[in-house]
Amino acid sequence: MTLSESDLIARFFRNCGAQRRDVTLGVGDDAALLECTPGAQLVATTDTLVAGVHFPPAVPAAAIGHRALAVNLSDLAAMGARPAWALLALTLPEAEEQWLTEFAAGFGRLARAHEVALVGGDTTRGPLTVTVQLLGHVPPGRALTRSGGRPGDLLYVSGSPGDAGAGLAIEQGRLAAPAAVAPYLRERFLLPTPRVALGERLRGYARACIDVSDGLLGDAAKLASASGVGLEISFADLPVSRELVQALGGDAARELALTAGDDYELLFAVDPARVAGLERELPASQWNYHQIGVLRAAPGAVVTRGGTVMEFSHSGYQHFA
Ligand code: ADP
Ligand code: MG
Repeated sequence: MTLSESDLIARFFRNCGAQRRDVTLGVGDDAALLECTPGAQLVATTDTLVAGVHFPPAVPAAAIGHRALAVNLSDLAAMGARPAWALLALTLPEAEEQWLTEFAAGFGRLARAHEVALVGGDTTRGPLTVTVQLLGHVPPGRALTRSGGRPGDLLYVSGSPGDAGAGLAIEQGRLAAPAAVAPYLRERFLLPTPRVALGERLRGYARACIDVSDGLLGDAAKLASASGVGLEISFADLPVSRELVQALGGDAARELALTAGDDYELLFAVDPARVAGLERELPASQWNYHQIGVLRAAPGAVVTRGGTVMEFSHSGYQHFA
């Protein structure tokens, strides 16, 4: 690399995230020293983004930095955890200053917004690949998991799934959306909003939770199978944005909402006995979530419309299919 590796790290990553008092030693030594909150459970996750697989290679660098952290924040949100510390393993074809400046700005902005400190990482040369590890906390025994759902639970999703899938299609030139809605949809792909605050507040209300990254229907099936139940989603109840409907029409918008990936919304199951409390504490209009179905005893994930079952050939992106 033209910039030396240590110059690059000092310049772009030493002060990239939030400053936290529980970081005793951050970027610069052989490893970071972190003060664990006494009595808390540590929650850990990691996700890798490979150029050309998880995003088109020409995506703006700030969006890649944002996204690399956002997908991990979404995983902690799905656990009901509060994020704290990140590590960043960056593989770059070359050390280009402009690209690194924008990447670090995108990563750092989101990190500071969630009070996440960047405490270490690794920098190597090779095909563009970004791996983030994220650590956070949850009160012991209070984490949300995929496996707590029971038959009869109501199934909810946050936000408006499908937008990001349309944004990716626009980015790849596969979809020509009207100029009035294309920028909104593109941004929903480039800059996903992880539902960290909602995830934390859902502790005590949701019995099971998963983040929607590979397609709503496929991820719902994962939650159901982990809970040992099935589920039914009502096609007409899928929340889709006005912009997505304008781009595709209502039916195609809802099909995309079920099958496209990259939403980073939360899908969660609530005991009917807790619904009144949920609606009081977290009004749906303010927290932006909608009921889309129910869990049921019969296995399998079905989508119904007007009383009949719809068939879906594709229920989520498969890396090794
Ligand atoms: P080592 O050879 O001991 O692994 P490195 O030169 O890889 O050390 O890293 C030096 C310091 O910089 C370490 O504290 C490491 O965690 C940190 N670091 C390296 N790359 C990054 C990065 N992309 N983002 C944040 N911290 C990094
Ligand atoms: Mg190293």
